[in-house]
Amino acid sequence: MTTLLDLKPTTKQLVKDITDRLGVAMTSQYDWCFGDTGGPYLVNIWHDSMLENDGEIYFVNRASDWAEENIETAAQVQLNRAAALSALIQTAYYRKEPVHVAILAGVRRRVGLRETSEAHQRELDSVLWYPHHKDDDGRIHVIRGKPQPADFNPSDADRQRQAQEQTPLPPLPKRVEVSGTTIFERDSEVVKAVKGRAVNGCCELCGKEGFKTANGGFYLEAHHVIPLNCGGLDDVRNVVAICADDHRRAHFGEDRHAVRDRMIWEVLAALYPDDTEFFETMDERSHDIQRSDLGQRKLEEHRVDN
Ligand SMILES: [Zn+2]
Ligand SMILES: [Zn+2]
Repeated sequence: MTTLLDLKPTTKQLVKDITDRLGVAMTSQYDWCFGDTGGPYLVNIWHDSMLENDGEIYFVNRASDWAEENIETAAQVQLNRAAALSALIQTAYYRKEPVHVAILAGVRRRVGLRETSEAHQRELDSVLWYPHHKDDDGRIHVIRGKPQPADFNPSDADRQRQAQEQTPLPPLPKRVEVSGTTIFERDSEVVKAVKGRAVNGCCELCGKEGFKTANGGFYLEAHHVIPLNCGGLDDVRNVVAICADDHRRAHFGEDRHAVRDRMIWEVLAALYPDDTEFFETMDERSHDIQRSDLGQRKLEEHRVDN
């Protein structure tokens, strides 16, 4: 049986030779991954970041963690490579496609604040790797030589994870009296889950990347598509993470009803394809808001603060 130690590369294959062999376009030899949607895919993974457990050899997709940890010091090109690697593994995961892995060994060190690395050995593994499941932190595990079970459905798995993270029934929002004005407490867990759902810190509506905040994250605002004061639920299926512009537009824009419709059907219903009934109910509420002056007033009253 192959062990992780057996996989440590001893020779240095050229990136160009590997991509040629696989029939993948080589962009820059410094990229961390290669391949377009549909595959074949090639990823470069450091041998010392691979794990072994119970005869399984695997790695965990931590590329976006790396970007977060190094955001202050990494060159933009490194952040882009990390984002590309993470996106490619997600694509393979949702499409249930294997990836080729080139295993790297060499020097990884910090120079000043910056992490630099130099691959001294690089070998293409002859066995395919498969993105399998997400762990409790939502990171994809990629396992060597073990296809996903035929009945595994990545979108269902996402939904189950989200359901487990939530309480079984979404609680009704709490009303809090603040100097005569009724506001609604936001459930920070829902907000956190939704901001985590926004891919690479990009607005879920327009796709624009939120600006970087001083503490290294991306700035997005959580918006309740059917506002809590119009009977909307504090549930991940009623909340989107969007840029500040789109958030104000959702409340005050001339086209706010159309924006709401897109949030329901193009963003949320696409994320939770099995919950059509839920979105049909939201859609009815959405039309109620459009039809009633009170609903529209409530939309404008709604505080735009998170
Ligand atoms: Zn936006
Ligand atoms: Zn809002």
